[in-house]
Amino acid sequence: MNEQPSCPKCRSAQTRVIGRSLNPPCLYIECSHCGYSTSVAQPAAPRTPPLNLDTRRIEQIARRALVDAGSKMTLVGVEKDRDDAWAVVVTSDERRVVRLQVKQGTAYAIRTAIIDGLARA
Ligand SMILES: [Zn+2]
Repeated sequence: MNEQPSCPKCRSAQTRVIGRSLNPPCLYIECSHCGYSTSVAQPAAPRTPPLNLDTRRIEQIARRALVDAGSKMTLVGVEKDRDDAWAVVVTSDERRVVRLQVKQGTAYAIRTAIIDGLARA
């Protein structure tokens, strides 16, 4: 969990974050103990990819691509495949499930990969 920055003036840990800046990355904190407010350098965010966001983004693109392509397939879900690739899982009925490989890229590239995959499915 995030470590609460301590007050640089009185060293109290009873601070609250009142704002943040992305560039440079810092937090604005206010001390509940002495009332001092300041900005503190934010510890570098862990470089784990926001998997849920990416997956959700691809789900949205896939849903739209299915509609735009006039496909009878419905989206089952999107699974992380490798570091930079996902499998878009679609089905036409319960017996037929197709996995379309898409790679990390622009929305347009992902959409094209899905529509191409549908055409070949
Ligand atoms: Zn303080």
